[in-house]
Amino acid sequence: MESSWKLTDTQLRKWLSGLLDGNSVVAPVEEDGVLLFRPIASEDQAVVKPSGKTRWSPKEFLFPRSEALYRYNFKGGTVQLEDPPVPEEHQVLFGVRSCDASGLVRLDEIFLSGTKDRLYAARRENTTVVSAACAAADVECFCTAVGYSPVGEEGSDVQLVPLGEDWMLRVLTDKGRDLVSDAGDGWTAATAKDGKRIAELEKSVAGQIERSPVNREWSQVLEEGFEHGAWDRLAQHCLGCSVCAYVCPSCSCFDMNHEANAWCGEQCRSWDACTFPLFTHHASGHNPRETKQERYRQRVLHKFAFREEDEDPFRCVGCGRCVSLCPAGLDIVNTVSAAVEAIREEGADAAR
Ligand code: SF4
Ligand code: SF4
Repeated sequence: MESSWKLTDTQLRKWLSGLLDGNSVVAPVEEDGVLLFRPIASEDQAVVKPSGKTRWSPKEFLFPRSEALYRYNFKGGTVQLEDPPVPEEHQVLFGVRSCDASGLVRLDEIFLSGTKDRLYAARRENTTVVSAACAAADVECFCTAVGYSPVGEEGSDVQLVPLGEDWMLRVLTDKGRDLVSDAGDGWTAATAKDGKRIAELEKSVAGQIERSPVNREWSQVLEEGFEHGAWDRLAQHCLGCSVCAYVCPSCSCFDMNHEANAWCGEQCRSWDACTFPLFTHHASGHNPRETKQERYRQRVLHKFAFREEDEDPFRCVGCGRCVSLCPAGLDIVNTVSAAVEAIREEGADAAR
């Protein structure tokens, strides 16, 4: 399947320009000094760099912040149900970092397992991911510490690898092949030497990440120490603002709201977060996660524990957004290692 080419920046932009014909292209753009994923109308708008990531992940282009799931009208004595149309235009997510491409696969595991989510599945089917490997780590990045890679292929249909001034373009899937099928004008085939640069890049970026690895055995320790008193201390400064969940590429919590009047209505889904008290508030008034300690523990453990098998990847892909943006300065990796240390030193049942 794999075929790869070496492109100049000009050739890459020409290809991107061609993608705008017949596709909705979403790429990193700079808005008020902040890098964000936005639909682009021209290749000049895209910021495609060897490193650096957007403030928010690209997940909202598969799992929108808010959307209607169904609508209804009362007509005479009957109720007419209506499914909102699924998006038909093909979408290209361009310049997605490797961590974020893996984040989309973690979302797939939620929305596409068992009964598939109709709207998510339609968008996913209609989306091709062009990822961009990293030539440098941001200060908050820790992908390698949680089992991912700055040049990881997971979730990518086409991968761009920065090679100094040039880019290597690697086709990884049939969907990716469709995107380059009529391109390649003047492109040169990548050589084995170019291929070796991928491993060199991975080693070089991994060397910039100073975090110690999160050990896979820690999942079990965290689960055994679920009731450990350390969580009171570790969650003490959490404000419950949920910034961490909103910016996270793999967080998938949502709430359902019903908007209606006497004639019609719609059922909406909106992003929510397990760090909000109302997320688990039952209609009876009971809340199984009443304290912020329980809620913060839930978010951390959902990323690093509750895994069905040892082979499952962590649900944290190491993008570091929640670390850099938490207003209380909480750091999910430090929390995990501190919890594991406390559980091991004091025993899993140490009281609150
Ligand atoms: S961990 Fe930080 S970002 Fe997340 S809810 Fe708590 S204060 Fe907000
Ligand atoms: S938990 Fe934090 S570092 Fe991990 S993927 Fe989510 S936002 Fe990124």
